[in-house]
Amino acid sequence: MTAEPLGVPWSSGVVRGADGAVRVAGVDVRDLAATHGTPAYVVDEADVRARARAYRTAFETACAQVGTGVDVYYAGKALLTRAVARWVHDEGLRVDTASGGELAVALAAGVPGAHLGLHGNNKSDDELRAALDAGVGRIIVDSLVEVDRLAALVREHRGPAGAPAPVMVRVTTGVHAGGHEFISTAHEDQKFGLSLAAGPDGGDSPALAALLRVLDHPELHLLGIHSHIGSQILDPSGFAVAAHRVLALRAALRERTGVLVDEVDLGGGYGIAYLPHEVPLDPDRIAKEVAQAVADAARELGTPLPRLSIEPGRAIVGPPGLTLYTVGTVKPVRLDDGRVRTYVSVDGGMSDNIRPALYGAQYHAAIVSRVSDVAPVLARVVGKHCESGDIVVHEVQLPGDVRAGDLLAVAATGAYGRSMASNYNLLTRPPVVAVTAGESRVLVRRETVEDLLALDVAAT
Ligand SMILES: *Cc1c(COP(=O)(O)O)cnc(C)c1O
Repeated sequence: MTAEPLGVPWSSGVVRGADGAVRVAGVDVRDLAATHGTPAYVVDEADVRARARAYRTAFETACAQVGTGVDVYYAGKALLTRAVARWVHDEGLRVDTASGGELAVALAAGVPGAHLGLHGNNKSDDELRAALDAGVGRIIVDSLVEVDRLAALVREHRGPAGAPAPVMVRVTTGVHAGGHEFISTAHEDQKFGLSLAAGPDGGDSPALAALLRVLDHPELHLLGIHSHIGSQILDPSGFAVAAHRVLALRAALRERTGVLVDEVDLGGGYGIAYLPHEVPLDPDRIAKEVAQAVADAARELGTPLPRLSIEPGRAIVGPPGLTLYTVGTVKPVRLDDGRVRTYVSVDGGMSDNIRPALYGAQYHAAIVSRVSDVAPVLARVVGKHCESGDIVVHEVQLPGDVRAGDLLAVAATGAYGRSMASNYNLLTRPPVVAVTAGESRVLVRRETVEDLLALDVAAT
C-alpha cells in the first residue's frame, strides 16, 4: 500500500501512509495524539491559506472581469485564534468580527483596524466604543436604534468635529439559503437585519429608512449595504437573487437622495463538503456567478457597478480542520429492523462539536491509526456527555474490529467546532493544533481543570 490522500471531505494534506496510519500535513496522527493528547482540533495551515487565496483570487478575477473590485473578509466566528487571523491576513483577507472578544483577538493578531468589520444585532456600547477606538473599517448596523446609538457614541467619543464612523446597513433580502435550496419571500421572521419589504401603509421599507437615517447623521459615513443570506449554501442562485434586491435598494436610495453608495457586501455561507459524496461550491464558479449577477443588476438598474465584498468563514477553515479522538467504549445494539448499530464512544462529544446535536449536522469519520481487514459495520460515533443526544457522527461505516485505543478522526470540523465549544459536564475544551510542513504546534492550549477552578471564585 502506498500513501494515498483520503480525499473529500478531508483536508488536502490528509494522507494514509503505507503503514495504515494517517498523516496530516506530514505529521502522523499517532504522534499528534502522543504529543497533544486527545481530543484535539487539528488544523492544516497550508490548506487554510490555500482556501483563503482561492477565494480571494477567484473573486478578484471575476470582479475585475466585470469591471469592479472586491474585498474578502474572513468571518472570524468560524474559528478565531491569533494565528488563524494572521494567516488569512497574510493571504490578503480582511476579518469580520461579531463581538468584542473576536475584535480583540483580531487586533491582538495585528490585523489593522481598517481591515476589520464589526457585526451584531445587539452590539453593546462597549463593543461599539472598542470598534471606534480601533478605527474599524466598517460597523455593520443592524437596526434603526443602533444607527442613533452609534451616532451618539461617535459624538461622545470623537467630538463633533471628529471623523465619521464608516457604516454599512444590514438588510434582509427575503432570500434564505442553506443546504441545497433557497427560498425567497417578501417578509422576514428573524432577528437579523432590516427588511426590504414595504413598511406599514406601503411606506418606506425598514432598510431604506435605516439608510436615510444614516445619511441624516454627520457622525456616520454610509459605505454601503450588507446582506448575508445563510450558511452552508450549495445552490448559488440565492446569491444572484439577493444581489438584485440589494442593488435595487441602492438604486432606490440614489433616486430618493442622489447618494449612490460605493459598496455591496453579499455575506458568506459558501458551502463545503462534510460527506464523501458532497460537492462543495467551487470558488471560481461562484465568483463568476456572483460578479455577473451584480453586473447584470447594475446594468438593468442603470447604476454604476458597486465595489463588492464577501465574507466566507466555513469555506476557509472548515475542510482544513479535523478532530482527533481516542475510541473508548464500543457497544453493538440490535435495531428493530434486525440491523446492528455499533455505538463507538469517543473522549469528547457535544462539548467540542455541538453542530450534530444543534442542527442535525452530518459528519464523516474514519479510524486513522490503522487499517483493518475486518468488514465495516454501521457505526454511530457518540461522545462522553450525560445526554443521549450527544452524537458526533450519526452514521458511518467503521471497521468491524473498531476498539478502545483506536484513534478516530472526524473530518471538516475546522469551522464552528472550537468556536462553539462549551464546558458541558465540565469537560475541558480541546487544544487547537496547527500542522505545517511536518511540524505541529499548539495555537490554543487545552483547557485544564485549573482553568475551570480559576473561574469558580466562591467556595461557599
Ligand atoms: C456567519 C456569517 C458569515 C460566515 O458564514 P459561513 O457560513 O461560515 O461562510 C458571514 N457573514 C455573516 C454576517 C455571518 O453572520
